[in-house]
Amino acid sequence: MTINRRDFLKFSAGTGLMLSAGAESARAAKTPELPPEAVGILYDSTLCIGCMSCMVNCKKANSEPGGALFHKNTAGKIPFEYTEEDHIYDAPESLSAKTLCIIKALYNEETAAPVNPGEQSKSFIKMHCLHCLEPACVAVCPVAALQKNPETGIVTYNKNRCFGCRYCQVACPFGIPMYEWEKASPSVVKCQLCNHLYAQGRYSACCEFCPTGASIFGKVKDLQAEAQRRLALKPGDVYAYPVKRVDGDERTEKVVDTYVNHIYGLNEAGGTQYLFLAGVSFDKLGFNPRITDQVYPDFTWDYVSHVPALIGALLVAGTVTRLVTQRLDKKKNDADQGDDAS
Ligand code: SF4
Ligand code: SF4
Ligand code: SF4
Repeated sequence: MTINRRDFLKFSAGTGLMLSAGAESARAAKTPELPPEAVGILYDSTLCIGCMSCMVNCKKANSEPGGALFHKNTAGKIPFEYTEEDHIYDAPESLSAKTLCIIKALYNEETAAPVNPGEQSKSFIKMHCLHCLEPACVAVCPVAALQKNPETGIVTYNKNRCFGCRYCQVACPFGIPMYEWEKASPSVVKCQLCNHLYAQGRYSACCEFCPTGASIFGKVKDLQAEAQRRLALKPGDVYAYPVKRVDGDERTEKVVDTYVNHIYGLNEAGGTQYLFLAGVSFDKLGFNPRITDQVYPDFTWDYVSHVPALIGALLVAGTVTRLVTQRLDKKKNDADQGDDAS
């Protein structure tokens, strides 16, 4: 595959490198396999009430040591995002360097008709890293700062390896990785399925604190089976939905809504460990219809291997940025320590 200027500009224009490349690449897609102990999340939009407990508790859990938002310098502080008028509620509008998980309400403004079948006039969608089976972010990272755990399939980030090229941000078809622009020593930030909690017998905070069963944690095989079971239900049936964990004892009975007959994430981008069910089509919930079932890292590697100059420039720019910001950070810390000592 060759790359021309038009393709390059498309590629460098922003998130979703492979969305541009995908239409033009004819490479055969691999069939990715689930890691043996793959864990993930099933989100069922028909059960979601938009309470945002998942979002708030994601921030809290990830501000603890080991969490994706934890920083020594800000230990003990949860990075809530307030509006200018209101300093009471955490109110992020989208994923950011302080928000790994976002709940959005979507209204059908065009027709003013209810978006969900039944009484609701809006639908909710919860977005965070999908832990792709073949993650584009991992494929493009030149220093393996992003890695997919071979057992659990969780896509993790190692700040110590990262030199700040942000190639992962461009590559992710879902626009997930965020960058700490405002920090002197910035990192990439994204959901790591709360894997720092597992040793304590805990699991993903968004599921631990979801009161309705809209977000449930578990083995991906069990989540897939649960999603299939729900699609086989009839609207109006009563079903005992698992709450918090797919394999737990906690259940809540609810009248089944009408599902769109599709499990998003089963095949998209080659398959993901975060699965979605909904009562309306997924493009109405903000999913990019250009994301296909193809495995995106194949396209990514085509680009990477054909644009060495770009990689070289990114390496140099990223390394310089990293070194300068780390030096500034060190100076600031030294100054702070000096102040403390005096
Ligand atoms: S959703 Fe994006 S950041 Fe998450 S694993 Fe897939 S490519 Fe990586
Ligand atoms: S798994 Fe953890 S980090 Fe990821 S969205 Fe849920 S609470 Fe946040
Ligand atoms: S905690 Fe559950 S019900 Fe509440 S907004 Fe999050 S996913 Fe929806």
